[in-house]
Amino acid sequence: MSDRYDIVIIGSGVAGASTAYFLKKKYNVDNIVVVEKEKTPYSHASGLNAGIVRQLVETMPIAELAKKSVEFFMNPPQDFCKDNFYLKNGGILTEKDQTDLRISTFLKFTSKLGISYEEIERREVLNKIPFLEEAPFVRAVYGRDDGVLDINNLLSSYLKGVEVRTSAEVKNFKVEEGTIKQLILDGNEIECNVVVMATGAYSEGIARKLGLNHIYLDPRRRHLLISTEIEGLKNNFPYYWSMNPQFYFRYESGGLLFSPCDEITMLPEELKATGESLSWLYERLKIGAPKLTTVQIKRYWAELRTFSFDNNFLIGFDPVIKNLFWVTALQGHGMTCSAAVGEISADLVCGYKPDIDHNPHLPKRP
Ligand SMILES: Cc1cc2nc3c(=O)[nH]c(=O)nc-3n(C[C@H](O)[C@H](O)[C@H](O)COP(=O)(O)OP(=O)(O)OC[C@H]3O[C@@H](n4cnc5c(N)ncnc54)[C@H](O)[C@@H]3O)c2cc1C
Repeated sequence: MSDRYDIVIIGSGVAGASTAYFLKKKYNVDNIVVVEKEKTPYSHASGLNAGIVRQLVETMPIAELAKKSVEFFMNPPQDFCKDNFYLKNGGILTEKDQTDLRISTFLKFTSKLGISYEEIERREVLNKIPFLEEAPFVRAVYGRDDGVLDINNLLSSYLKGVEVRTSAEVKNFKVEEGTIKQLILDGNEIECNVVVMATGAYSEGIARKLGLNHIYLDPRRRHLLISTEIEGLKNNFPYYWSMNPQFYFRYESGGLLFSPCDEITMLPEELKATGESLSWLYERLKIGAPKLTTVQIKRYWAELRTFSFDNNFLIGFDPVIKNLFWVTALQGHGMTCSAAVGEISADLVCGYKPDIDHNPHLPKRP
């Protein structure tokens, strides 16, 4: 006999977890299960990212989601999380080159939405982050409400009270008359009214399994590296993001967490971290933050950020399979936008209109 639920969410990453949270919290949907193929929840991108909340982003639709999420992080419901999961230390983004138009372009979105970003002088940057003395940037902006998430606290709070089955890979689907009738796992089957596909980098492979040819995704590998402890370093400075050369860092456990912002397209089955990431990082630091080239790296890893063709997300019902709902392609902004993404998904799954324009993220773009 197969199990039966109203909603099955495939994937316990932030997309699945935040959707489950809002389905329960906003719509009292209790008969939900999250199925996760790994032994522990959120062990892919969602559990292995930098946790940076940056609202200065590449598209207006994503900036809107970031803004709405940050409002949630700054003022969560009282029963959401007993610990402080959002450290609002701000963020600084810099440009080395006056011809780089990215910051100017992104600022158009934030200023239209009233998100707080201001140009700051070099001396203010150095006041906040002294080890940037020799950094060659010509322009800096400061996002006052940006910060860093405690990703474990956030994810466990989204999943509080939700049934999660781990080591439960959905291997196949029984589809009849344009509807998923059954999910086939090792040793059992599950039936449900709606399937929420929150499978991150695995989503395109799953689409093909379902015979769908309209989902095209681009998973790109990115490395994170952690330094050994740096004497006297305190967790009281903003994250730093250099746009050219691209790299970022933030405080982590007495040292710094870095990314050389590498992006190589890769299938999830091929993902492997490489020691070359250290030289990529040091090359960028040599140009962009020379004082930091003496830090020692003690650990590194890599995960995938998943992109759609137009840099917006994929949120909504599938145009071909009626009871299939996609929430994926959250790129490098999944944590930042998670509260808004979860709420929009829950609204749409339950048949309500979200309070922000979700059309740019529909699987079938308008
Ligand atoms: C190095 C790096 C740094 C990042 N830094 C930031 C940051 O600072 N700020 C930010 O906002 N975002 C950041 N991101 C992006 C963020 O991590 C992602 O956008 C987000 O985690 C994607 O969440 P997801 O739930 O879509 O995917 P995932 O977290 O990958 O979750 C998908 C889940 O589905 C499961 N699954 C797949 N197939 C099946 C199946 N058949 N059956 C059952 N389960 C299945 C997988 O095991 C996985 O657990 C970063 C990403 C990377 C890689």
